[in-house]
This record gives sequence, C-alpha cells and structure tokens, in this order.
Amino acid sequence: MNLILMGLPGAGKGTQAERIVATYNIPHISTGDMFREAIKNETTLGLKAKSYMDAGDLVPDEVTNGIVKERLAQKDTDKGFLLDGFPRTLDQAKALAEMLTDLNKKIDAVIDIQVAEEVLVERLAGRFMCRNCGATYHKIFNPTKVEGTCDRCGGHEFYQREDDKPETVKNRLSVNVKNSEPILAYYDEEGLLYPVDGDREIDAVFADVEKIIEK
Ligand SMILES: [Zn+2]
Repeated sequence: MNLILMGLPGAGKGTQAERIVATYNIPHISTGDMFREAIKNETTLGLKAKSYMDAGDLVPDEVTNGIVKERLAQKDTDKGFLLDGFPRTLDQAKALAEMLTDLNKKIDAVIDIQVAEEVLVERLAGRFMCRNCGATYHKIFNPTKVEGTCDRCGGHEFYQREDDKPETVKNRLSVNVKNSEPILAYYDEEGLLYPVDGDREIDAVFADVEKIIEK
C-alpha cells in the first residue's frame, strides 16, 4: 500500500500518520527525516542538500527528488510506504510519478485530511503568553483556569507572538492552500484523491482513513 498523506498545518496529519504506520506496519517517509538521514549518512545528495541549507537557500527540486528516490528504492518500502510532506509542488508530484515508474511502483491513494481554514486558524492562532512570567496557554486546548488571570503568577497581561497571531496564521495557511491546490487537482484527475473530513475526533477520522486503505 503506497500512500501520500496531505493536509494543511493543524489538520491533524501527524497524528493520522502515526496511526497509519503503526496499523499497517509501513515506513513513514517524511521529508524532514529523509533530509536528516541523507545528511547524517553523508550521501552525495545529502551533502549537496546541506550546502544549500547552510547557505540559507532552498534545496532545489533535483536534489530533493533525488533524496526521495533513494529513499523509495530502499528495501523496507517494498510492502508499502506513507509519504508525508512530499510532493510540495506539482513539479515534484510529476517527478514522483516518474521515479515510481522507474522503481516499478505506483501510488495507490492520496489521502487528504480536510479541515476548514477558519477552524485551523482557531487551532493554530490560539496560543498566548503571560507577559509577566512567560507561561503559555491556548484559548481552546489550554486556557487559564480563571479567565484573564495567569495560573502561575496571577498576572493579568497577556500577549501573542507574531507567529501565533490570526493574521500571520491566515497568511501561512493561504500560501499552503495555493501550493497544494494544483497537487490535489492532479491526483484527483488521476483518480487517486480521497478526501477525509478531519474536523472530528481522531478515532472517527482514522476509521475513514482505514476504510480508504482497506478498499
Ligand atoms: Zn504569569
């Protein structure tokens, strides 16, 4: 079972990825892990990627694609794999199709965990801090026991980091939406796209994911 997992930040992709790889015993192939491994093992491509990253530059597609292909050629992917964080662009999606053909493999399903942007903004933009002691809270997941009063120091002044502000979060999400739309459209055309409503309990979301995989 060769899977791609898609979903915006905050959609719960990480949790579902953990459940999928544990249940189906397939390797979880995330871009971050692949890069770390290639750099640690000092492969040619790993060293190339590192030189771009050290210079603060984006790693070009040919290097990223090469690292993905090396990873997908490893023996443990024979029973299947879960790709997470790749492809990030339509070009990468097309390159992936080519490398899988070379490797005599193909994608079976692209699972897209869907959560409305307003909901994601609430989840991602809820974090705030006590100005006095730095204690961290979240409007929904970890509010102060008494509204407007810090549990730790009793302070009443709070602030949000720039990254946690709704406007910043909204911008980050819309960049993500713009990037993922052509990829999702591409897999939809290929008949591989399976959307899942991610705005529910973790178990309910995973039950739908299982249905797709069993099919
Ligand atoms: Zn405090």
